[in-house]
Amino acid sequence: MDTKISIIKDIHNDYKSIEEAASVIKKGGVVAFPTETVYGLGADGLNPLAVKKIFEAKGRPQDNPLIIHVANKNLESLVQEIPSIANEIMDRFWPGPLTLIFKKKDIIPNVTSANLDTIGVRMPSNEIALKLIESSGTPIAAPSANISGRPSPTDVERCIEDLEGKIEYILGGSRSDVGVESTILDLSVDPPCILRPGGITLEMLKEIDERIYIDPAIMKKNNENIKPKAPGMKYRHYAPKAKIKIINGNTEKTIEKIKDLLQNYIDNKLKVGVMTCDEHVKYYSNHVEIISLGSRKKLDEIAKNLFEALRSFDDKGVDIILAEGYQEKDLGIAIMNRLKKAAAYDILEV
Ligand code: AMP
Ligand code: MG
Repeated sequence: MDTKISIIKDIHNDYKSIEEAASVIKKGGVVAFPTETVYGLGADGLNPLAVKKIFEAKGRPQDNPLIIHVANKNLESLVQEIPSIANEIMDRFWPGPLTLIFKKKDIIPNVTSANLDTIGVRMPSNEIALKLIESSGTPIAAPSANISGRPSPTDVERCIEDLEGKIEYILGGSRSDVGVESTILDLSVDPPCILRPGGITLEMLKEIDERIYIDPAIMKKNNENIKPKAPGMKYRHYAPKAKIKIINGNTEKTIEKIKDLLQNYIDNKLKVGVMTCDEHVKYYSNHVEIISLGSRKKLDEIAKNLFEALRSFDDKGVDIILAEGYQEKDLGIAIMNRLKKAAAYDILEV
């Protein structure tokens, strides 16, 4: 399939490409587009045949539901009940990186919700995404625009890498600001429960309802007794081709351990990468591939650069990535959640 690629520099002058992409969505096609979290792979969320194409293009398991993206807060036609807390939460955090789960109406096809009776809805803040949804005149079902299992793309080049030839249209814009997927908050239960940590943190949500908590299953390795409530969280995810090991805990011990380990790997003729921060770059020798995610004082920078760093290590052909851990607090919760999944829970506490 030929993929049309259109990169928008200035939304006011390039409006034509959004119209073009919207006409692909209206006809049941698939379009990759920028959002503030990561790039999305969208199709008409109310058209089962269109939605199926998303699963095919990504190689996504059928039991992993999609989030639908809307351009306003009027959800009456899509969901059964809107609890009063939902209005308060939408007013505070929408548009933005927060997905809300509601009981769905029948208008949402089963393929979109993977046969669940609930649906995840989000209003993104990215201007191109909002215009695309408005012009399409339908909610856009969109998972991240990567081949299933790979780190989510945060710029258009990574979308092209994964999806050129597989979908009709790639709409490019600026780099994603948040860098990790949306927080998912289940409002179909009381008290509301966070099913996936993201840019809107537990601490921020607790300001609205202090009973809000994180699904205990998601920070741990999957086991028979506790399964995450968001079906997608059970898969190995966000994973580069290289193996990842997280070293977490006391700063000095972390650096010492990484130095020890990397010498060992080098002796065994492996190509090693170290994923660190601005403050620690100087401690590692230049015999390894080093990527800094930014300053530890700015967790939003760390989150923004995380997936791109994982993909860059693959470009460099490293065999193993030694990654420094982060404290599981505020945005650190989302960062560690993605890191642990990428590392298949290979984590060394020091
Ligand atoms: P992605 O769009 O690739 O970031 O994946 C969407 C995530 O949202 C997956 O982890 C899904 O399992 C989760 N999700 C979507 N809809 C629901 C729902 N109705 N209930 C629970 N989790 C959901
Ligand atoms: Mg995804």
